[in-house]
Amino acid sequence: MRFEIGSDHRGYELKSRIISWLAERGHAVNDRGCDGVESCDYPDFGFGVARAVAASPGTQGILICSNGIGMSMAANKVPGVRAALCLTPAMASQARRHNDANVLVLGADNVPYVESLAIVSAWLGAAFEGGRHERRVRKLVEGESARLADATTKGRRGDSGMNQDCIFCKIASGAIPAEKVFEDDDVLGFRDIHPAAPTHVLLIPKAHIPTLNDLAPEHDRLLGRLVRAAGEVAAREGLAAGYRLVGNCGRGAGQEVFHIHFHLLGGRPLDWPPG
Ligand code: AMP
Repeated sequence: MRFEIGSDHRGYELKSRIISWLAERGHAVNDRGCDGVESCDYPDFGFGVARAVAASPGTQGILICSNGIGMSMAANKVPGVRAALCLTPAMASQARRHNDANVLVLGADNVPYVESLAIVSAWLGAAFEGGRHERRVRKLVEGESARLADATTKGRRGDSGMNQDCIFCKIASGAIPAEKVFEDDDVLGFRDIHPAAPTHVLLIPKAHIPTLNDLAPEHDRLLGRLVRAAGEVAAREGLAAGYRLVGNCGRGAGQEVFHIHFHLLGGRPLDWPPG
C-alpha cells in the first residue's frame, strides 16, 4: 500500500517509528514532514498529507500530533478526505470498513507505541464494506459537494470568495478598471499595466486563491479553464508563432500579487531560460 505520512513536532518520534515499521513490511511511505522535534504548526503538515491523499485515490494518509484533534480538523477540511482519529484497533478497522476513511489520525500522547502499531495493523487489514455504508458515505460526499458549490457561488458573487485587500479581486469585481480581453464565469483576462512584451495579458481565476501552492483538487477544473483561456486569448491576439505562460509562485519567484495569475507573453522572441 502507498502512504502519505505527516506529523507535527509532538508526533515526530512516533511517525519515524511507524515509517520504519511500514517500510519493513514493503509499504511505500512518503514522509511530508515535519523533520524534527522543533516546534511547528500541525496544519502545515495536515493539509500537505490530506491534499496528497485527495489527489491520489487509493493512497492512504497517516497524521500524528499530540492528541490527534488538530490534525483531524485540518485533514477533514480538504475535500475528498475522510480522516478518522483512532484510539483503538477496533476504531481503525471500523473507520475503514464503515466510513471508507482514507486518513488515519493518531494522538502520540494517547496511544503507546505498541498500541499504535496495532491500530495501523487493523487499518491495513480492513477494507470498505460498501452496502449500507456506501449510501452513508455518499451522503458525506454530497454534503461536501454542496458546500463547495456554495463557496464557488459566493466567490463569483465576490463575497466570501473575495479578498477585500486584493487588487486582482478588485479588478474582477470592477472596483478597479482594467483593459479586459477575456471573461467568462470563472476566469478573467486583462492587459498587464507594465507590459513585458507586445502582448502581456494576465489570466486570473475570479475566486481568490493566493498562490499555486494553495490549489486543491476541487480547483482542477478551474485551472484547466484558466490554461485553455490563455490559448483562446493567444489565438485572438494572433500569437501563432508561439507564446509563453508564466506562473510565479511565491516571493522568491517574483510573485507580487497574491492572487493566482498566469502571465501570457508573446509578440517578440522569448529567450530561454527566462531571467
Ligand atoms: P507577479 O509579479 O507575477 O505577481 O505579477 C503581477 C503583475 O500584475 C505585474 O506584472 C504587474 O505589472 C501587474 N499589475 C499590478 N497591478 C495591476 C493593475 N492594476 N492592472 C494590470 N496589471 C497589474
